[in-house]
Amino acid sequence: MQVRIDGKEIALEVGANFSDAARAAKVQEPLAAREGGEIRELAQPVSGVESIDILTFADPDGRMVFHHTSTHIMAQAVRRLYPGVRLAIGPADAEGFFYDMELEHQLVPEDFAAIETEMRKIADASYPVERDVISRQAAIELFSSLNETYKLEIIQRLPEDAQISIYRQGEFVDLCRGPHLSSTGPVKAVKLMSVAGAYWAGDETRPMLQRVYGTSFPTEAGLEAHLRMLEEAKRRDHRRLGRELDLYTFHDVAPGFAFWQPKGTIVYHELEEFSREVQRRYGYQEVMTPWIFRPDLWQTSGHWGHYKQNMFVVESEDEVVALKPMNCPGHCLMFSETVRSYRDLPIKFAEYGPLSRFERSGTLHGLMRVRGFHQDDAHIFLREDQIGSGIAEVLEIIGVIYGTFGLQYRVELSTRPEEFLGEIELWNRAEAELGTALDQAGLPYRVNEGDGAFYGPKVDVHVIDALGRSWQCATVQLDFQFPLRFELEYRDQDGRAKRPVMVHRAIFGSIERFLGILVEHFAGAFPAWLSPQQARVLPVADRHAAYAQEVEAGLRAMGLRAVSDLRDEKLGYKIREAQTDKVPYLLVVGDREAAEGTVSVRARSEQASRTMSQAVFAEALAGEVRARALMLGAHHVEAES
Ligand SMILES: [Zn+2]
Ligand SMILES: [Zn+2]
Repeated sequence: MQVRIDGKEIALEVGANFSDAARAAKVQEPLAAREGGEIRELAQPVSGVESIDILTFADPDGRMVFHHTSTHIMAQAVRRLYPGVRLAIGPADAEGFFYDMELEHQLVPEDFAAIETEMRKIADASYPVERDVISRQAAIELFSSLNETYKLEIIQRLPEDAQISIYRQGEFVDLCRGPHLSSTGPVKAVKLMSVAGAYWAGDETRPMLQRVYGTSFPTEAGLEAHLRMLEEAKRRDHRRLGRELDLYTFHDVAPGFAFWQPKGTIVYHELEEFSREVQRRYGYQEVMTPWIFRPDLWQTSGHWGHYKQNMFVVESEDEVVALKPMNCPGHCLMFSETVRSYRDLPIKFAEYGPLSRFERSGTLHGLMRVRGFHQDDAHIFLREDQIGSGIAEVLEIIGVIYGTFGLQYRVELSTRPEEFLGEIELWNRAEAELGTALDQAGLPYRVNEGDGAFYGPKVDVHVIDALGRSWQCATVQLDFQFPLRFELEYRDQDGRAKRPVMVHRAIFGSIERFLGILVEHFAGAFPAWLSPQQARVLPVADRHAAYAQEVEAGLRAMGLRAVSDLRDEKLGYKIREAQTDKVPYLLVVGDREAAEGTVSVRARSEQASRTMSQAVFAEALAGEVRARALMLGAHHVEAES
């Protein structure tokens, strides 16, 4: 006999506080093998499952359930205020939720406050959210009586014998698969964000509905922090800062591509050079491969069958060719051109070449989603016994690179899916070695069971920026397939031909996107080594122009990026402008400085200045740049007497 246990009881076992914070349960059925787990409501039975995680608002899945319940609360509130509303669909994710609805009244942001007030009433009433399963016929009758024509359309698409779940909270009933919170009570803080038009079922021949976006939190404080973060994100938007700081621009003639202005080009090259320098230390060899190939290569790699819709395919001399979306096939080709010995491995090919991927014009977004980009890409060919050390080394490089930007990061390990290629023993060993490498690097990680690609397990790294947002950047992907497709071989110690394992890895990912992330992370105020201008020399009066130019020339001679501002403007104006431009160091020079060969140094966003000799400042700045220091420090160096 099995005892019926639900998620709520398990949460209570842990403690009353935890039980209050519990939002849902994620369970793993014993026979569901390696699926990602199923999210259940706390009231649903969990006996007989293999494992159970109680989810809170801190878990993305728990947040999704919370927001999902919020979208029903919003629909209920709208129905109370506008009884003629017809509801379509209301999905949610970890960020928030929306509901598509047909409403005679065109909603405007001024209507939001009333809806939010009604939503708070529904939360205060703490209605239980009750699940019911009914027949298709009963569902048709129910939603006909409510005149919910869109819901009816959804039900009519389901098979005759479908069991349909509906949810009730107070007077409100909705068609939904769930899962939800146990009651409306926890949704204490809500905010509607915007309203936009959306076609029913994405079909432009069907009615245009109103899509209302919102977000919700268990506390007002949580909501307020989130709204402040959104404000700050708007202020830091890399598209806006890119224009203000003259880094890059976008133009309709080339959707999905950036025009790199002189200043942006400097930042870009600094990133690339940094990567190059680190990788050279670890024995990477940089290569350059073509960016237009005949289909033969894409047939061998499998891209022609699975990825063609994402590639730019063009015709030349009556023949079809395609721009490369990734470097791997080219690198495999290069590997196979030479006879390789076990002693040659690992071989690490790095490339920064141009890549193109077709992205729908509607999804393009500044530098974050583009059609033309470059990666700090590399492919490592290694022996099976080198998987562990190879991965450990990549993790070390990730630490060096992200550490330099002061970026925190979190790691996910995705393991063997149900359909996979290669020997199960090799998979098990590879996964174990990935896990060991992560443990040894001291990196806590989350396992996404069954989420790996069919050709190999992978490690994804998400960087956390200054606003606490996470961005998936680095990826380390084992590949048992390409070596097979390209028939890669090396001669082993016993003289026999063996297949190497391949690792795809990028740390910035797209350099363009990473730069966009950095612009937002630093709010445009780069450390000195990344700054397009590292020092700006500001003469107090015209008569100090010659000395200003001398200071500038001295810095430039040391490879530093200095500019003197000789315009006929007031000093205060020039200082403010240099601060707006986020130049790390302002060097003010007047009579005394010119006479003594000194500069009066003021760091960005500091009021105090400090006088030191030209040479001392130049050395200090050069040292700061060489060290790729995160904080400005050259102005603190003590002048030697
Ligand atoms: Zn629902
Ligand atoms: Zn690759």
